Amino acid sequence: MTIETLNRINAMLTGTGQRMDKLCPECDGEGQIEYERTIGGIDNGGSPWQEYEPYLATCETCGGWGRIDIDPFDDDDDLS
Ligand SMILES: [Zn+2]
Repeated sequence: MTIETLNRINAMLTGTGQRMDKLCPECDGEGQIEYERTIGGIDNGGSPWQEYEPYLATCETCGGWGRIDIDPFDDDDDLS
C-alpha cells in the first residue's frame, strides 16, 4: 500500500483530510508529565527524613511530541 493510498483513506475517513493525530490525553499536549519521586536521607541530627519531590519527565504516551497518532482502523473511541 502506498502513502498516497493511505492519505486517500485518511481523507475519506475524516471527511476533511485533517491530520490523523490528536492531542495527547496523558500530558494535554505538553509532552511532559509531572511525576513524584521519593527522596530521603539522614539529617544532621541523625533523624531519617523522607518526602516527595515532583519532577518532570517525558510523556511516555506521546514520547514528548504532545500529540499521538490516530489509528484509522481502531474505532474503540467511537464505541461506548
Ligand atoms: Zn503525552
